[in-house]
Amino acid sequence: MEWPADYHMHTPLCRHARGEPVEYALRARELGLREIGFTDHAPMPRDDFDDWRMHASELDGYVARVETARRAVPEVKIRLGLEVDYLPGLEPWIRDLAARHAWDYLIGSVHYVGEDWAIDHPQQVSRWDRSEPGAVWRAYLERLRAAAASGLFDVLGHVDLPKKFGHRPPPDLVPAWREVFEAARCAGCAIEINTAGLRKPCAEIYPAPNLLRLACETGVELTFGSDAHAPEEVGAGWDEAIRWARAAGYREWVRFDRRQKSRVSLPEVSAPATEWPWKG
Ligand code: ZN
Ligand code: FE
Ligand code: FE
Ligand code: ZN
Repeated sequence: MEWPADYHMHTPLCRHARGEPVEYALRARELGLREIGFTDHAPMPRDDFDDWRMHASELDGYVARVETARRAVPEVKIRLGLEVDYLPGLEPWIRDLAARHAWDYLIGSVHYVGEDWAIDHPQQVSRWDRSEPGAVWRAYLERLRAAAASGLFDVLGHVDLPKKFGHRPPPDLVPAWREVFEAARCAGCAIEINTAGLRKPCAEIYPAPNLLRLACETGVELTFGSDAHAPEEVGAGWDEAIRWARAAGYREWVRFDRRQKSRVSLPEVSAPATEWPWKG
């Protein structure tokens, strides 16, 4: 029996997280997690694109900090990854990033809808008031589908992120979700169950249980991530995440080693204690 690895963790290089990678690794060891992976926000071609990611010149230092944690906490297997923003046109840049280090996996995330709306940014939440929610979700899902189909990523991050502040996806978008998951399955791209949603205004895991079930039915594989931006968030919500994964039909999670994927059995836990939130 092995806990799923925590494959989504940040570092202070992104300017909105705290704690050195060593501290995250020590917390993982304390929890009994045998494997974790760092996925800080990857640089953009232009360092002034936004202010919540490492600069291109900091990439080597990021890798060095993860390697320091590997040496300091050898009991925990520490993977090296990135959380890469997908926007159309960035493909050559992402291919270049992918070739620069011995990454174990890359998470592809869509944070940007349109050119400049970071959909999860608290300072931009008022843009929802000026938008038609269904149109925002459709634009988001089209970009997410393109990210999945690009073949650039091993995992898609927090696939229903636009719900963060409570703007739920309209139910008529199920066909669009199906297209996203079909694209992911065809590309061999997993999705993650991301526990950060539990700590946000939406108070629900990413993705919602009905979407997780659809992903499982479509044959999309699964990783687990806390999206920790502080050491104490490592492994947060793991019991609940495992319960939701099992309830959706998952019996395995996937591990990455230098972008080679392998399957690991999910531990047994009891059924969800509460009703599925999406039912009512
Ligand atoms: Zn972040
Ligand atoms: Fe993200
Ligand atoms: Fe993240
Ligand atoms: Zn994230």
